[in-house]
Amino acid sequence: MHVDIFTDMTKQKITIAIDGFSSTGKSTIAKALAKELNYIYVDTGAMYRAVTLYAMQNNYISSDSFNPTQLINDLDKVKLSFTFNETLGFAEMYLNNTNVEKEIRTIEVSKLVSKVAAISEVRKKLVSEQQEMGKEKGIVMDGRDIGTVVFPDAELKLFMTASADKRAKRRYKELIDRGDNVNYEEILHNVQERDRIDSTREDSPLIKAEDAIEFDNSDMGLKEQFERVMTLVKDRL
Ligand code: C5P
Repeated sequence: MHVDIFTDMTKQKITIAIDGFSSTGKSTIAKALAKELNYIYVDTGAMYRAVTLYAMQNNYISSDSFNPTQLINDLDKVKLSFTFNETLGFAEMYLNNTNVEKEIRTIEVSKLVSKVAAISEVRKKLVSEQQEMGKEKGIVMDGRDIGTVVFPDAELKLFMTASADKRAKRRYKELIDRGDNVNYEEILHNVQERDRIDSTREDSPLIKAEDAIEFDNSDMGLKEQFERVMTLVKDRL
């Protein structure tokens, strides 16, 4: 898929911000772009998920209780890092030096993550780490507030949407394929509930940045999406 004009990407690197609702395929397109452009890819959802896992492991949050103060007091002890996995072709999430890539993708974490992501102190810590990772540009970052808060000056901003049903089906397939015992209704409810909390929270709600390009991929395959986005990238370069 490599095109000649992209062989020397070191000369002009841009920042690509991809935001949007849950399970809109942000990370799939972000990974493909990063690979093509030889950019760093950062999945910021993984960072919020890792903090949530930490809170669960320490009993600061469960399905019927939440103690944000204890988590806030502990935030200095939460060390997040990404390590590139050559075999998988993307960076995996580490929490305090332990690979948590599998644990953070469970439905249990998905059910609690939006509550943790609504805490301003958590956002402040993660946003500053994300800005540090992107300060040299040459980065594709996906999340909910990348184009609005993390990199408001990003050269290319995408806002991904798709119908809730399509998104829940994609998520359901992903979880079933990796052997998780989940049902479709539960996934649909989770996707909608996360969107609701993410869009209505006070700090950095999920909204489309004014200069973001909206992408409804309900009926679009990866190849078509990739080609369209690459045209936008070429424009920016
Ligand atoms: O992207 P993913 O679905 O893995 O994100 C999990 C959750 O993390 C989101 O539902 C949202 O609550 C939170 N998040 C966020 N800001 C980001 C990325 C994720 O609030 N930049």
